Amino acid sequence: REITFLGIHDSVGNVFPPTELADELADLPVHVEVVDTDGISKCDAIVTRDHYDSFLELEWVHSIQAGVDRFPFDEFEANDVILTNSTGIHDRTVGETVAGYLLAFSRRLHTAIAAQQDRRWDRPAWDEAFTLPGKTACVLGTGTLGSGVADTLGSLGVHVTGVRRSGDPVPGFEEVFATEDRHTAVADADFVIITLPLTDDTNHLADAEFFDAMRDDAYFVNVGRGSIVDEPALVDALESNSIEGAGLDVFETEPLPEESPLWEMDEVIITPHCAAFTVDYFRDVGGLVRENVDRLAAEEPFVNRVV
Ligand code: NAD
Repeated sequence: REITFLGIHDSVGNVFPPTELADELADLPVHVEVVDTDGISKCDAIVTRDHYDSFLELEWVHSIQAGVDRFPFDEFEANDVILTNSTGIHDRTVGETVAGYLLAFSRRLHTAIAAQQDRRWDRPAWDEAFTLPGKTACVLGTGTLGSGVADTLGSLGVHVTGVRRSGDPVPGFEEVFATEDRHTAVADADFVIITLPLTDDTNHLADAEFFDAMRDDAYFVNVGRGSIVDEPALVDALESNSIEGAGLDVFETEPLPEESPLWEMDEVIITPHCAAFTVDYFRDVGGLVRENVDRLAAEEPFVNRVV
């Protein structure tokens, strides 16, 4: 494959200014330029957030997200287009966001911030606040995000268990369950955390039965993808107090519609799909793109290749 024109599609502007990445990669031995959708035809390869059908004419597409569920794998394969993703860079960012949700719930920071909006001096009831050491978190998905969450929560004294397809042990997780045993895995956890990719197997994996299996004082966290959760079942579980609360970064429909009952719930923290945001995001993506441009020149296989 020959790549002489690497486009930075302007849809990356959803996460960082496209020019920052173009400048970061300016010394590559290929032409790097920010392009809009009309400019796709000029490119051999492109770095993007969104998918466009015109990508099927290119040699290589790099997604700035780890989740590539928006890309049609079959069509990439049929058209011999390489697809790479950005897994491997979100461990610490998402780990700290999840730690932030847990610290907010345990130290009641979300209720303090809500009260502050109304200049209200409302203190939590004597038995509302708690500390994290000795609590347990069950993390579904033990990849980059899951390991980053385990590492960050582990340093706060939380006992971390994991769920993966095989159930085989993973460093950083005290115990690991197979996906088919997920209801057993979540049954004792104070926090249940989804870090999975969206696939046919994980679609609506967190359903009514899943929330029933959780303790009624447990918190649910989703930083994977919205459709891994049956959102009406989550709303029911929260409304009926069959779980305590939730920290949510991803939703079945994004932006989360104004009429969603989740907005109004006291024990729900909503972040707008920004769990992985960092001022260094373009540098981290740039590192992956640079690595693959080098590998192409050396005729070595790409890292993070999905198709
Ligand atoms: P990863 O590939 O490193 O890890 C995913 C893990 O999930 C892998 O270990 C894989 O084996 C496992 N898995 C897949 N299907 C499974 C199943 N049915 N049961 C159990 N385990 C299963 O990817 P990552 O970088 O950790 O990202 C994971 C997902 O998180 C992405 O696909 C993306 O959708 C989401 N994500 C969200 C944000 C955000 O901003 N909220 C940021 C990065 C990634």
